[in-house]
Amino acid sequence: MFHKTISELAAGLRKKAYSSEELTHCFLERIERFDGQLNSLITLTAEQALDQARAADRRLSTGAAETLTGIPYLHKDIFCTQGVRTSCGSRMLDNFIAPYDATVSEKLKAAGAVMLGKTNMDEFAMGSSNETSFYGPVKNPWDPERVPGGSSGGSAAAVAARLAPLATGTDTGGSIRQPAALCGVTGIKPTYGRVSRYGMIAFASSLDQAGVFAASAADAAPLLQAMSGFDPRDSTSLERPLENYSAGLEQDLAGLTIGLPKEYFGEGLDAGVAAAVAAAVEEYRRLGAEIRDISLPNAALAVPAYYVVAPAECSSNLSRMDGVRFGYRCDDPRDLEDLYVRSRGEGFGPEVKRRILVGTYALSAGYYDAYYLKAQQVRRLIRDDFVRAFAEVDVILSPTAPAPAFRLGEKAGDPVSMYLSDIYTIAVNLAGLPALSLPAGFVDGLPVGLQLIGNYFAESRLLNVAHRYQQVSDWHRRLPAGFDA
Ligand code: GLN
Repeated sequence: MFHKTISELAAGLRKKAYSSEELTHCFLERIERFDGQLNSLITLTAEQALDQARAADRRLSTGAAETLTGIPYLHKDIFCTQGVRTSCGSRMLDNFIAPYDATVSEKLKAAGAVMLGKTNMDEFAMGSSNETSFYGPVKNPWDPERVPGGSSGGSAAAVAARLAPLATGTDTGGSIRQPAALCGVTGIKPTYGRVSRYGMIAFASSLDQAGVFAASAADAAPLLQAMSGFDPRDSTSLERPLENYSAGLEQDLAGLTIGLPKEYFGEGLDAGVAAAVAAAVEEYRRLGAEIRDISLPNAALAVPAYYVVAPAECSSNLSRMDGVRFGYRCDDPRDLEDLYVRSRGEGFGPEVKRRILVGTYALSAGYYDAYYLKAQQVRRLIRDDFVRAFAEVDVILSPTAPAPAFRLGEKAGDPVSMYLSDIYTIAVNLAGLPALSLPAGFVDGLPVGLQLIGNYFAESRLLNVAHRYQQVSDWHRRLPAGFDA
């Protein structure tokens, strides 16, 4: 059952070929069998999952079911889940049982989806390799000596190994697309504001956006649909009607214009990745798309601007973790200051501390104008580049990451080289645009991801453009050796 598509699974449930309880058992068994090798889960919620599955079976038999009713999924451990530990990959929240559901968690419950557990991630979503997690690194199922990418590495690895057919993620600078690329799955980050951030633990609020991991764009569509929509509890939520993502999948690509930004194909791009992307471009030409060269002249400023804006916002967001209200508290504090200092000192890992220090510095009196304000101005230039590009083309195509999965430990001691693995993904978050990564081949047995960037609100078009490619390719159907039975 684990290699079926979501529409096949939904049809099987309706025909009673199997129950949601059986389906849930199938994936729980895979988790039990394989997750020791991957470490993709922080918390398994098997009993709750079986309860949800039985409730879904009852609902399916009344005919009042939705597409996701009875379908298992894994939830990134950044989303608050009532009554279930929500750690955000940090010692700081290791003991935190969320007292309420994030809007996304609530919506997936209402749709009748079955949560199998919470996935491993970089601490507070800061990282590109999953090595900053308090719970230890996640292994890439294509090669256990390599990283799955990050920060949503647990979700990406779990879907790649089909420990679940679907998983949620969040993307602040690439954390859905880069791990999707490195693990050979499909991942979509919608337009900023499309999915509510309420109850999603904040890293950099002006960049954070939730999205989806799945084997294919067609599988991703119903999950994105169920998560999306206006939420009065999130002041940046978009009040705009939702498109039907599944209904738009089959649209013809004739007449579609695809732009290739020259800045995303230059120095630093692995030759094997470049070749796989070039082959995908040819496939799109055969599908009727017109290919144009374009330029995003401020592309090189994205990583530096992001590493001012994101740390600045994180330093503010993470100030709520103070050892007083919830989360980790040090033993025997001498006084209030000692309580703050040691709780934060012991609760946060080194990458999180680095970001808080950089962010606090960038926001401090006298430096705000020089750093934060300047970065926000650069951000505007980056957005304007995209606005100009989308006056000429419908979709922008690029590699998702400059190289396939790197080795565990390879970049862990070199933050700048780690930060550069998001060189093609970060500008999208600064501009608030939707983007998707889909599998486009292999280099030495490691998956290559292709990035498609859309104009604001073009999620449906992106899923359609990815789906059309997936109808004529089978990269997304391949499973890593050892996980295929
Ligand atoms: N890798 C980037 C960072 O470390 C992006 C992380 C993310 O998208 N959450 O900040």
